[in-house]
Amino acid sequence: MKIAIIGSGVSGMSFAQLCKRDQLADVVIFETQKSHGGLARIENTNGYPYHLTGGHCFNSKHQDVLDFVFNDILSLDEWNLVERKADIIFQGHSVPYPIEYSIKHIAEFNPQLATNIVKDFITAQQNIKPSESLHDWFINNFGYSLAKEYLIPYNTKVWGRDISTMSPNWVSDKLPMPNVDSFIMGLLKSGTDTMPHSNFYYPKSGSQQEFLNALREGLNIRFNQKIEGINKDADGKFHINNEVFDKIVYTGPLNKSCDVFDIENLKSFCDKLEFNVVTTMLWEREPCDETWTYLPDSDCPFHRLIHIGNFLIPKKNVSIAEAVGERSYDEMAVAGEKIPTLKKPIGYHVSKHAYVVFDDDRDDSVNNITMSLEKNDIHCLGRFGEWEYYNMDICIKSAMKLVENLKGR
Ligand SMILES: Cc1cc2nc3c(=O)[nH]c(=O)nc-3n(C[C@H](O)[C@H](O)[C@H](O)COP(=O)(O)OP(=O)(O)OC[C@H]3O[C@@H](n4cnc5c(N)ncnc54)[C@H](O)[C@@H]3O)c2cc1C
Repeated sequence: MKIAIIGSGVSGMSFAQLCKRDQLADVVIFETQKSHGGLARIENTNGYPYHLTGGHCFNSKHQDVLDFVFNDILSLDEWNLVERKADIIFQGHSVPYPIEYSIKHIAEFNPQLATNIVKDFITAQQNIKPSESLHDWFINNFGYSLAKEYLIPYNTKVWGRDISTMSPNWVSDKLPMPNVDSFIMGLLKSGTDTMPHSNFYYPKSGSQQEFLNALREGLNIRFNQKIEGINKDADGKFHINNEVFDKIVYTGPLNKSCDVFDIENLKSFCDKLEFNVVTTMLWEREPCDETWTYLPDSDCPFHRLIHIGNFLIPKKNVSIAEAVGERSYDEMAVAGEKIPTLKKPIGYHVSKHAYVVFDDDRDDSVNNITMSLEKNDIHCLGRFGEWEYYNMDICIKSAMKLVENLKGR
């Protein structure tokens, strides 16, 4: 079997490595860019690892994913295990992340709010109601006060829209979910979450590019090849640049699949898929201890500062500011000048596809597109290929599932 993979991001390269390892198929990757890595790609800027789309850390709760990465791609002794130390600038104060376990810190500067958060959280948890929207899900699970003061404003900023129009279907494994016991323990002593990123791996070399380079080792990637308008011939084969393939694995954005494949009726569903753009700026900064900082304040366009220099040993004084939407260099620079710890901008980037938006049309559109493609031996894979809120580890997990599916056929 010969498979064409469209896209050399983490999904496409992982799928290709697994096909090689399991001798499932000959694979060729076609990539529109001049280098591999997709959203996870790094540029070296003044000796710093600039994660163009926004800072990335790696971990997984899936042992098979960890085994694949550490046994087949980049051995465990090439990675540092870094402890997350994140904070939130909340009402002008630094509060440790996750906020649900930091209510005693809020009590130090706003005791009435802290009291209300505790009362509302416990009341909400006693009878969690089903939620139609993300807005209601925050209130129903965390109580009115925490939802109103932090979760709703922060998420409105991150998603760049009214979150009562969004579904809560993506939240599992993306947000810390305290129960009453762990919440109370956070009040009495300390508490924390068990999110995959509560500690994480970063390559000892000081750049995630080392992981991406290891992932591309031995793969056949054709760069600068934007694939468009392909279809099956009468024998059911695909032709790309004079090569013939039995199947295609598509990891590019699903909303662009109507341009890539010449298949009827895709366009109306593609047009309904919503996503967010992210702009980043790399900054030299004053030293700090945190790995990242959340910024819920609606006056600042940045929603997060990733202190990427603190992922490295020794640490470097550099951070990545992330803002939702396409922002100009000047807007980013002016916003950074208002944050006293940021000193000098040294990199700027806009990522067109960054976050999938889970609105009411999403499920129906994704199902219709992927079913049409599957019928034509085109398999969708990855964050934008499946139109999911996947991290790198889940992209790898999904590549594993696809390999198993194809073996079974
Ligand atoms: C701001 C942000 C922060 C993140 N932080 C983390 C993190 O800390 N940890 C983590 O694990 N994950 C993180 N992620 C998620 C992670 O980036 C993705 O899960 C992963 O990189 C997706 O890989 P992919 O291969 O599915 O897609 P992509 O990386 O999008 O790769 C798709 C590739 O296909 C190519 N392509 C598209 N169309 C065509 C075409 N027509 N012809 C040829 N090539 C084409 C593209 O150029 C691209 O290289 C983050 C994502 C964002 C946006």
